[in-house]
Amino acid sequence: PSLSDNSPSANCVKMSSVAEVKQGYELFDPRAYLQNNYTHPRANFESEDCVVPWKLRCLASSFSTGEVRGRTLLDIGSGPTIYQVISACEHFEEIILSDYLEVNRQELSKWLHGEPDAFDWSPYLKYVCNLEGNSERWLEKAERLRQKVKGVWRCDVQQPNPLHPASLGPVDAITTTFCLEAVSADKRSLESALANVTTLLVPGGFLLMIGALDESYYLAGQVRIPVLPVDEEYVKQAVTGAGYRIRVFQTYIMPAGLKIGVDDVRGVFYLQAQKL
Ligand code: SAM
Repeated sequence: PSLSDNSPSANCVKMSSVAEVKQGYELFDPRAYLQNNYTHPRANFESEDCVVPWKLRCLASSFSTGEVRGRTLLDIGSGPTIYQVISACEHFEEIILSDYLEVNRQELSKWLHGEPDAFDWSPYLKYVCNLEGNSERWLEKAERLRQKVKGVWRCDVQQPNPLHPASLGPVDAITTTFCLEAVSADKRSLESALANVTTLLVPGGFLLMIGALDESYYLAGQVRIPVLPVDEEYVKQAVTGAGYRIRVFQTYIMPAGLKIGVDDVRGVFYLQAQKL
């Protein structure tokens, strides 16, 4: 895919209801989304200031304390990506990935089964191994991660049990990256999605969340998906209001060079919060 996705003819989904947000996702193209966000220039591992290494460092630093650990970690709204659980795999016995869309679950399965046309996460694995002081062991890490992922489940954060008809939990930790603000029509819907997700987490368990700041849309192929713009204060309020104590909150400001026409994001937040 090229930046020509950002053309006036790209489908524009006007957000006004949960149903319309869902409709927008019918045209979500995993490969275009990966291309836009997880290749050069956003995934430039030569530059520590680049957004992708920043996200990986945030996650690695939470796991490196040893405090975030347990039997099961659930990743909500995984999309077609696995970067968000690379650091987790040393600290949990099992990882469950989940997404609303079958196309994303298929994309994840390709990588999990080592299929030749799967997205190449090796630079991500190498970077995280390097952070852990084991840069040569990235192939082992890939294998371990594949073994730890016990499932790629359907989820819908707008449902009281987001994993319905399956049930799980409560789990020891939840990761969720760029999901809640990208699937919620308004603040009320984001807060109810967060409440639904929180029911899956054990009290004392950790929520690790990454999200977009002040973003109103992103492109994923021929579709322009609306995003609920949120700022740091609102995110903190919503997470605290959902029954968490925020332990870490960091902000990344998107540099001009990474504003490449695939969204209008101002920055990215990272938070680690503990359920009360
Ligand atoms: N987590 C990935 C990342 O870090 O890049 C993907 C984030 S992508 C912006 C938003 C994801 O939310 C998509 O994969 C989409 O399929 C998923 N999604 C859409 N509606 C959802 C819903 N109701 N419940 C859960 N996930 C949903």
